[in-house]
Amino acid sequence: MPLLSFLRTLSTAHGPTGGEGAVAEIAAQLLAPLCDEVTIDPLFNVIGRKQGQGPEPRPQLMLMAHLDEVYALVAAVEGPFLRLTQTHADYRLLVGQEVIVLGRRPLAGVIGDRPPHLMAAEERQRMPRLHDLVVDLGRDAAEVAAWVSPGDVVLVDRPFVELQGRRVTGKALDNRAGVSVMLATLQHLQDQPHACDLLAVASVGEELNLLGAHTASFRLRPDLAIVLDVTFAEQPGADKDKTFPLGGGPVLGIGPNLHPRLGEALAATAARLELAHGLEPLPANSGTDAWAVQVAAGGRPTALISLPIRNMHSPVEVADLADLEGAARWLAAFIPEVDAAFLAGLAYQLPTFDEAPA
Ligand SMILES: [Zn+2]
Repeated sequence: MPLLSFLRTLSTAHGPTGGEGAVAEIAAQLLAPLCDEVTIDPLFNVIGRKQGQGPEPRPQLMLMAHLDEVYALVAAVEGPFLRLTQTHADYRLLVGQEVIVLGRRPLAGVIGDRPPHLMAAEERQRMPRLHDLVVDLGRDAAEVAAWVSPGDVVLVDRPFVELQGRRVTGKALDNRAGVSVMLATLQHLQDQPHACDLLAVASVGEELNLLGAHTASFRLRPDLAIVLDVTFAEQPGADKDKTFPLGGGPVLGIGPNLHPRLGEALAATAARLELAHGLEPLPANSGTDAWAVQVAAGGRPTALISLPIRNMHSPVEVADLADLEGAARWLAAFIPEVDAAFLAGLAYQLPTFDEAPA
């Protein structure tokens, strides 16, 4: 299946943080033909295992990409309308969106706002605030009361669209893009031997507190891990120093949240492939599952590869398929290099520096 099809299928699936069941089921179905075994753990982390061909004990390499997507919750039911509470979604961009409310059954709705004619002049000048947003289900108050309760999840309901060239847009590209790269990597490895055993984890709860990354990496205790997530793509008004060109290739994280020699090895593979890629200095918490994986069960060497997207946490995230395909090629070339000797090379060594030029 092409990577585009993985992304299309996953982007339109429902999977708010804390309610990843539906998208976990789909991820498990997509992983099944690419792995020896797929399980869904009690928190709905999806865990695929693919055995390597090296002698035992084989290194255990974990790939991880989070499944959950940003969401809002119903704060209150006000007659036929719903008010929203704190959301990780960029709520400035929710006005004008179709949504799905996961009540006692899924209900379609829209988030509108009063027409400008009915707003005071100063209201028209400012962006809507969270408590201004109202979901209209097009039903009467009795029906809404019967089907919806405070705490129900509200998700943007949005088609996945191919833009011009290799660009695509939709919701939840953060981080279904990463999950799609994980699937495409496994697809490359179907006809390519690798010494290490692979653990492919689609994790839950990243947008809240990395809870799936904490629990899955504690449970699995991989010898090393590579996390896939998104980063900021260049767009008008965004700081050049914090963004990466869309279509400029996947991005390797560097910093204390990540293992230096594992990163160096990935960079060497990219150089060998002549694969365009960016480098993202992360002086603190990477803000990804890597933060939890790195310190799991005594510490796990961890790397981070990120995919640039525009409009992160909005209903219209934009990605470039070339970046995703590049990441999958990168991982598929790197993973066969991981054997017992590679793992031994990740152990502590005194750092060395190049000689200063004479
Ligand atoms: Zn996110």
